[in-house]
Amino acid sequence: MKRLISAQDVIAAAERHENLVVDGNTIVTAQARDVAKERGVLLETASAAAKSAPHAEAAPVAEHHEEAHHEEHHEEVHHEEAKAVQPALSADELERVISAAFEKGIWTKEEVEALFKPKAAIDANIVPVGVSGRHIHLSQEHLEQLFGTGYQLTPIKDLSQPGQFAAKECVTLAGPKGVIQKVRVLGPVRPKTQVEVLAGDTFKLGIPQAIRLSGHLEGTPGVTVIGPKGTVVLDEGVIVAARHIHMNPAQAAERGFHDGQVVSLKVGGERGGMLDNVIIRVTESGNLDCHIDTEEANALHIKCGSTVEVVR
Ligand SMILES: [Zn+2]
Repeated sequence: MKRLISAQDVIAAAERHENLVVDGNTIVTAQARDVAKERGVLLETASAAAKSAPHAEAAPVAEHHEEAHHEEHHEEVHHEEAKAVQPALSADELERVISAAFEKGIWTKEEVEALFKPKAAIDANIVPVGVSGRHIHLSQEHLEQLFGTGYQLTPIKDLSQPGQFAAKECVTLAGPKGVIQKVRVLGPVRPKTQVEVLAGDTFKLGIPQAIRLSGHLEGTPGVTVIGPKGTVVLDEGVIVAARHIHMNPAQAAERGFHDGQVVSLKVGGERGGMLDNVIIRVTESGNLDCHIDTEEANALHIKCGSTVEVVR
């Protein structure tokens, strides 16, 4: 009769200070072997078990005999067991055995899944995507000029980066050629006001395009910001955000990235393609998320929350 030994069987045996007997019809899962090694549970062949413990021959679990398990014997048993436990099962048989084992609760769901998906570990190059629309970050000073003295933002939605939120408040942008209304304010307030627009918006406003990472505002164009209580004329601070991937140092280490690294994104699907010059941003407050804007997302048919593949 075919029999399966799972990691849980090994753990149970270890707790009982017992070894396990295997024969040509016994399947030992890879996890079970690992656990057996870790916990020092011997996987004895039926014949080896018979030699060291004759009365245990027919039992699935051999009794523990301290004196019989010195190191030398260990080696020998492992060697024999390796030869004996190579069951020649067809794919059909294997499937039947696995199904039966699962149904009878011999294997847990996790073990069966681990067997069929051996690469369930994280794929370092798959990252989630957050899609940004046009928005503005305000300094407290500018917030008060636009909305009134002592004004505080009203958060309505948390963003992927810890502490960042979309606020209820919106402003209007005015440039030499046109205006854009209902531009969302993101919080919390920052030391410096920064406007992030889409490439298409720069044509509508009639201002130059400066593709920059957040915070790099030197030499960028300005714009007029209009709020319900006042207006702010910015000399600089309008950027088209350079695409980037946020992460914290632990995530960077785990995935083998470093701050400032430039990578590409490979996107599948009907409008798939590559996006180059994507900058890795490692910050203590960061959380893994790839930020592109709505134009980029629309061009490649990427939705917020989908994942993309990083190419290094
Ligand atoms: Zn970002």
